[in-house]
Amino acid sequence: MQKILKVKFTETTFEDVSSEILSWENCNKQRYIVTPNPEIVLESHKNPKFLKILNHADLSVPDGIGILWAAKYLETSKKHKSKIVKLFKWIFSLSTIAIYPKYIRTTLPERITGVDLLKTIVKQTDRKIFLLGAKKGVAKRASEKLNTNKIVETYSGSPQELEAKGIIDRINKSGAEILFVAYGAPAQEIWITRHLKKLKNIKLAVGVGGAFDFIAGERKRAPKWIQKTGLEWFYRIIQEPTRIYRIYNATIKFPLIILKSSFKN
Ligand code: UDP
Repeated sequence: MQKILKVKFTETTFEDVSSEILSWENCNKQRYIVTPNPEIVLESHKNPKFLKILNHADLSVPDGIGILWAAKYLETSKKHKSKIVKLFKWIFSLSTIAIYPKYIRTTLPERITGVDLLKTIVKQTDRKIFLLGAKKGVAKRASEKLNTNKIVETYSGSPQELEAKGIIDRINKSGAEILFVAYGAPAQEIWITRHLKKLKNIKLAVGVGGAFDFIAGERKRAPKWIQKTGLEWFYRIIQEPTRIYRIYNATIKFPLIILKSSFKN
């Protein structure tokens, strides 16, 4: 278990996560998975209730190269007391993201995104699935693309409390046992933990951010080779310049806060 700004992360690979989730199939316990990225970690830094929600998850996996970097940097920098050495390690480890990303994939081995997790769970489960969230029609289109009769219902709805009862009734009536929620963070994680107990058949809930948009083709993911380099965030700036503030948080503010926290230790 690794901690980044108090957020817990499971040290695991995509393959191990997939088999762990599969092993839950014979169990009736309700579980939820979170996939924090640097923005989510920053949000939890100023929102203790959200931090608690993240840390109570059954699995917390890193959705972002920035998280892998932070884990590696914090691990190596804690061996040193000197701020100069820490600063040097910070610059060095940051530069490896673009030049030699393998270096930072040792503390937390792999980036595990909501969209990849969703596709894998859909493929390997025999349970009924419900897709909740995203703009009207997007979840339905995502379901058509996934082309499986395991997805029994889709609904956009909204994370507002006024709508919760209607959504809960829909999910309960659908008989679905796996729920993917795409309301963005922290709304989706708050929605899941607030209502999970009322979702009588649901055994597993996962907050998946923009996953339905990607599957439906509303938004484009970077090509595989860019994803591997760790520069998917850069591709996103070009594709969606309106996200510049969010990208700033993930690529400038997050590393600076990590540096500050390493100085305090
Ligand atoms: N969303 C929604 N209702 C809301 C707010 C967001 O359905 O009130 C959806 C939005 O349409 C998108 C997803 O939540 O499909 C989150 O997208 P975001 O870009 O935040 O995802 P990420 O960057 O985390 O992948």
